[in-house]
Amino acid sequence: MLNRLADYHMHTVRCGHAAGTMEEYVEAAIARGLGEIGFSEHVPMYWLPEEQRDPTAAMSMAELEEYVSDVVRIRERYPEIPIRLGLEADFIPGHEEALARLLERYPWDYVIGSVHFLGDWNFDHPGLVHRYAEWDIGELYDRFFALERMAAESGLFDILAHIDLIKKFGHRPGKDLSEAYAALAETIARSGAAVELSTAGLRKPVGEPYPAPALLQACCDRGVPLVISSDAHAPGEVGWGFEQARELALRTGFTHTLRFEGRRRRAEPLE
Ligand code: ZN
Ligand code: FE
Ligand code: FE
Ligand code: ZN
Repeated sequence: MLNRLADYHMHTVRCGHAAGTMEEYVEAAIARGLGEIGFSEHVPMYWLPEEQRDPTAAMSMAELEEYVSDVVRIRERYPEIPIRLGLEADFIPGHEEALARLLERYPWDYVIGSVHFLGDWNFDHPGLVHRYAEWDIGELYDRFFALERMAAESGLFDILAHIDLIKKFGHRPGKDLSEAYAALAETIARSGAAVELSTAGLRKPVGEPYPAPALLQACCDRGVPLVISSDAHAPGEVGWGFEQARELALRTGFTHTLRFEGRRRRAEPLE
């Protein structure tokens, strides 16, 4: 049993690259002993014209309406577990206003901020891995971390997802990252956002959680609050690897994780 932890990062079939009904995610969470969950579907690709939006990357605007009402409805059906309304929203520089306007329209419990794009390149898409060959990997990491710092500074997000996602396929820069880690952790601490310790990286070629232990430590040292997430794209992934993640969080020095409701937070002891 997962000690009543919360898992706030779960997708559904609506994004076009996940499996399972919402009921199956909720029932998996209850079976595993999670204490609270939240759905966080990928935001519609608000920064692109409608006809350029990829239905296998995110839900459409019409689906967003249905998604919100389905989360509200499923809450009533499962009184045994609190079910929060979240969203995973891409940070795209220059489109902060459009995102802020979209967020205003619904009663989110929390908003997760993610960097999945460098320009038009969806760098975490398995079908686009060949484009890493166009880059000096050290330079690529610098560009990614700059965007991640901007995402924190935007103030749009309660939680930052997979803050070193650029490592997903195992591309490593031939340089020390401690300065980049310190700068990112410092920026996040100032922004007030929480970071996600995500077990999804353990299921990917890189084979380590997001963020790397040294980056997680840099965040902990600066007082950045934590959530533990699975980034489930199938019911079997809900709460996946959470025992290991909790051990890592405790070893790093975290004592609490955050719970969210109506974009307000409270700290819950980790043990
Ligand atoms: Zn996804
Ligand atoms: Fe993501
Ligand atoms: Fe996600
Ligand atoms: Zn994600």
